[in-house]
Amino acid sequence: MRSYKVNAIIIRRRNFSEKDRVLTLFSREQGKVEVLAKGARRPGSKLSYFSDLGSIGIFHIVRGKSLDLLTEATPIFSPEGVRGRYHKTQLLGFMFKVIDKLFEVGVSHPKTYEVLKKAVENLSKREDQLLFVAFLANVVSDLGLLPELQNCIICHKKVIREPELFFSPKGGLIHCRCQDGESLNVQADEIKLFRLMLEMPFSKISKAKINQTTFENLYKIIRLYFEWHFGKILPDKVL
Ligand SMILES: [Zn+2]
Repeated sequence: MRSYKVNAIIIRRRNFSEKDRVLTLFSREQGKVEVLAKGARRPGSKLSYFSDLGSIGIFHIVRGKSLDLLTEATPIFSPEGVRGRYHKTQLLGFMFKVIDKLFEVGVSHPKTYEVLKKAVENLSKREDQLLFVAFLANVVSDLGLLPELQNCIICHKKVIREPELFFSPKGGLIHCRCQDGESLNVQADEIKLFRLMLEMPFSKISKAKINQTTFENLYKIIRLYFEWHFGKILPDKVL
């Protein structure tokens, strides 16, 4: 197959020579794909209009020796509502960084693709911290690294009915009596919200009303979990 097309989101771009750009796409069909967009740095060229971060479209690509070549892009969505908005730009940036760092080229993750697409579209309309957390929860699920949210990771007995819950960034819930120095005290509501993030359709998540403290604590749990597994990628706080 010399040429192919993918539904994708532009998650990274870098300049390449005087006139060209290399784009990293996250596609539904093939996961991460790197393409050369010839002439994309030349004002007025047809690819320069459509090489912004967060743009969603159908990309026509021809296989090349080292880099595949982007020949045509049909725009589907452009995140206009994010432009010039510092906080939204930052949130998108972190989502793209997570994908770029944790997903391999050529491995398809259709679930994360759909979640990212919805997050980009929704963020363009309004600020939405909850979508960011839902995105992160879905990434760990898609990578097969969901934390244990029912049983204690040390003694394997049920934890959820205990009066006091603890969460270990190493793997999930833990009993008060089994906890070590690294586990955090958590509330049942935070764990419930974590589960909801994985089960609820995205359209409902962006409308859900969540207590700010519950949100902040859930973010902290997810951030520490990410840090333990993948190193420091996420910001300390999502404001
Ligand atoms: Zn235990």
